[in-house]
Amino acid sequence: MNDQDHPSHPEHQSTLTNPQVLSGICDACGKVGVDLYKVSLGKDFFNRTYDRLSHTEDLHPKWFCSPCSLEKGYQRDVRNIHQELEKLLANDSSLLSEEKTLLQAISHVEKIESYVKKGRKIHLLLPPREVGLLLIELQQALSARFPSENS
Ligand SMILES: [Zn+2]
Repeated sequence: MNDQDHPSHPEHQSTLTNPQVLSGICDACGKVGVDLYKVSLGKDFFNRTYDRLSHTEDLHPKWFCSPCSLEKGYQRDVRNIHQELEKLLANDSSLLSEEKTLLQAISHVEKIESYVKKGRKIHLLLPPREVGLLLIELQQALSARFPSENS
């Protein structure tokens, strides 16, 4: 779990009046002169508060154009769901231990999968293979835990 595959650009030193949006280079796709958003605050898929501002890795803030910030949000969801799935498979306490939440996670990952599979865009932040594997693992976990209703 790290962001080392998204190199930061030290040239983001614009003077900001509005910290949410500026114009510059997207840290994911490298597009120049686009409106940029910082994806640091908000709620994750499990409705937990998402705050990366206090994390050490955010000493070098990353900025994303609009499509990449959407994808960054999906990446965050995929990683969080994957983390909870690993806990579930290890029989630790997991947010996915409830069937309802597990089903919601599957339908959310299905939505993300159809997003990464359509179009010609190269998904730098969210490899379709990673999403597809997560979906398969979730479905396996569902039928293993709740075989009668979902097989
Ligand atoms: Zn971008």
